[in-house]
Amino acid sequence: MNPTMTSHRGPDGESRRVEYRVQGLSCPNCTREMQEEIQRLEHGQNASLLYNSGRLLIDPAVDLQQVERILKGDGAKLIQPDLSSPDETTVSANAADEGPSTQAAAETASAGEPEEEHESRLGLWLLVLSAVMYGVTFVPAIPGTVGIGLDLAAIVFSGYSTFQRGLRNLIRLKFNMDTLMTVALTGAVIIGEWKEATLVAILFGLNELLEGYGMSRARRSLSALLEAAPKESVVVQDGRESVVPIARLKVGDVVLVRAGEKIPSDGTVLEGSSAVNEAAITGESIPVTKGPGQPVFGGSVNSEGLLRIRIDKPYEDSSLAKIMQLVQEAQDKKTPTELFIDRFAKWYTPAIMVLAALVMFVPPLLFGQPWMNGVYEGLAILIVGCPCALVLSSPIALVSGMTRCARLGVLVKGGVHLEQLGKVSAIAFDKTGTLTKGQPEVQREIAYDPQRFHAVAAALESGSLHPLAAAVVRYVAARSGGDERPRPAGLVTLPGVGLSAEVDGVRCFVGSEALLAQLSLGGEAQARVAEDLAHLKAQGLTVVLAAESARVLGLFGLADELRPEAPDVVRALHRAGVARTVMLTGDHAAAAQGIAARSGVTEWHAGLLPEQKVAQIQALAGHGTVAMVGDGINDAPALAAADLGIAMGQGTDSAVETADIVLMQDHLGQLPRAIRIARRAGRIIAWNIGLSLSLKLIALLLTIPGWLTLWIAVMSDMGATIIVTLLGLTILLGKDPKAGDSPAVEVTSHN
Ligand code: ADP
Ligand code: MG
Repeated sequence: MNPTMTSHRGPDGESRRVEYRVQGLSCPNCTREMQEEIQRLEHGQNASLLYNSGRLLIDPAVDLQQVERILKGDGAKLIQPDLSSPDETTVSANAADEGPSTQAAAETASAGEPEEEHESRLGLWLLVLSAVMYGVTFVPAIPGTVGIGLDLAAIVFSGYSTFQRGLRNLIRLKFNMDTLMTVALTGAVIIGEWKEATLVAILFGLNELLEGYGMSRARRSLSALLEAAPKESVVVQDGRESVVPIARLKVGDVVLVRAGEKIPSDGTVLEGSSAVNEAAITGESIPVTKGPGQPVFGGSVNSEGLLRIRIDKPYEDSSLAKIMQLVQEAQDKKTPTELFIDRFAKWYTPAIMVLAALVMFVPPLLFGQPWMNGVYEGLAILIVGCPCALVLSSPIALVSGMTRCARLGVLVKGGVHLEQLGKVSAIAFDKTGTLTKGQPEVQREIAYDPQRFHAVAAALESGSLHPLAAAVVRYVAARSGGDERPRPAGLVTLPGVGLSAEVDGVRCFVGSEALLAQLSLGGEAQARVAEDLAHLKAQGLTVVLAAESARVLGLFGLADELRPEAPDVVRALHRAGVARTVMLTGDHAAAAQGIAARSGVTEWHAGLLPEQKVAQIQALAGHGTVAMVGDGINDAPALAAADLGIAMGQGTDSAVETADIVLMQDHLGQLPRAIRIARRAGRIIAWNIGLSLSLKLIALLLTIPGWLTLWIAVMSDMGATIIVTLLGLTILLGKDPKAGDSPAVEVTSHN
């Protein structure tokens, strides 16, 4: 068995936790109860037992045997880490953020599955056997006592694990579904309702099996995603090749990746050229051609030639490892709906027990009614008390939804964000880099002092991440050849405007026309600059000017292309029910208008500083759930202010890290589909909750005329569980057309 331990920094940043995989967690409720028990162990305070991803995070000082004992109560167990390979289990202080074990986790996730499958197959056979025995009791030739024996055996076969847990809980006065079921079945046998008790036990067993199946399906499709992680790689050192486990790769190692093999970690191609499939990272299945000097992602597949690659990041820092860590953590963050259901289930079960006791004892004691009827109804009510379907209504749908989105290259960092995404009614877009390609080119240049203009512009812009800056640097470099570039000193970013720095001892500025307000130009110069500016803007160009003290050195007019998929995406968003699409930009109105018109957004606002973008988001927020899509350059505050921050995958690191959703493909193509998936998940969750609650309510109401039978009680739960599980899993279905298929650019003339 592969090691499954990793370290996680606790909430206090001090204590460390190790991670184990846990197999066979049967329901969110019991998981919570076991977590509470584990937390009561010595050093157990900050343990987390996570149902959705099937993990346990725990202080290494906790006595594992005790933990295992607790888990066993629910039929769950730890997958033991292999302590013989200390490398993997070494606890490093900053490991929590990097998630070094994601690869190991991925391996065990797949390795663990067969055993779980084996167990559920055994459970299924026992159920079939019980069903057959139950059927035989109806054969007229079978004598009564044999029939009873068969019934009893069937009850034991189909319900033994429930009884085991139920009895244990009963002794400790802990009331959950197992306790309820155990009491109900024992009661039914005592009052002589053999047949019904058997049927109930079989149906309940089936119910449990389904429950486990549903969640493990949802989890498994996630581990399929994790299987993208490569295991080892061929390192070339001093002309010799050796096979090295991924975890041992160091920055600077040179690896050989042959056709069909996976690239081990993020790196740069040194030699060779090949088509590389990056689907594991971006969801985009059309291979990208990579040659010397180009960056590659770990986890992508080299589909043709031989590549020699220099490793730039250790595996645990690679994009793939981060994605996997993220996706895994995302599953375990509870949504408000889930928290509500947890709380609800916590008092629902005891409340039902009280109700059952009332129904059992009040009529005979107060009104002299016969005991049997009351006891029977009471037992049926106990069965109604199992909140199985209810507690399942959210997690399966959420995990399925997040997994499906991840397959599209849309990383949703938590169920709550998936729920939000499904409710989005307005989306704001940044212009540069989001609606446009973010690769603007200098189209026009008006220089008043050409030499100095280029020198200053290039010097300052080389210190900026803004897409316009890159264009300016490229443009100047192409013209000035090997000229030495002066070094800027004291560089300051003017958010949403540009930059300022000292070049050769003189304070210089580069940025939008808003800079003019800060310079005191002479009347004549001012008139000339204003005229040239208007000229460039009239052509819809974005203007970048460079100035030193009170002198404008020149103007660049840049144009950025609309992303080809933007108009289709905006239209698809409107069809998906997003009423308002808004473009927010710091650029001037003339440049903004063209892009807005061609992309088809319903509104646009230009000339905004970062804080004004925030104000716009807040204004939108009055009308429903607002998402903001941006790359983090001059729009990070707006991303944070929106209900849902959506970052472009190639945006700034901080944007990608703080955003709620990341578009790994670095384009908007999959956003409408992700919204559809989220809406569907939201609808299914609401419907699931409604269904499971109303079936419970109906069952309870049936007790008034005295129509509730034991099997109706268990069927109402099982029916709901089946529907809830299947509906949740349908989210995983459906073909995902890849982004590459997005329709060609539609050119709409608008001038
Ligand atoms: P957008 O909202 O379109 O992404 P920004 O808010 O990023 O635009 O920038 C607004 C304007 O500020 C740009 O159009 C540009 O004129 C100017 N600007 C900002 N940063 C820079 C920079 N580093 N170099 C040149 N101009 C800049
Ligand atoms: Mg921007």
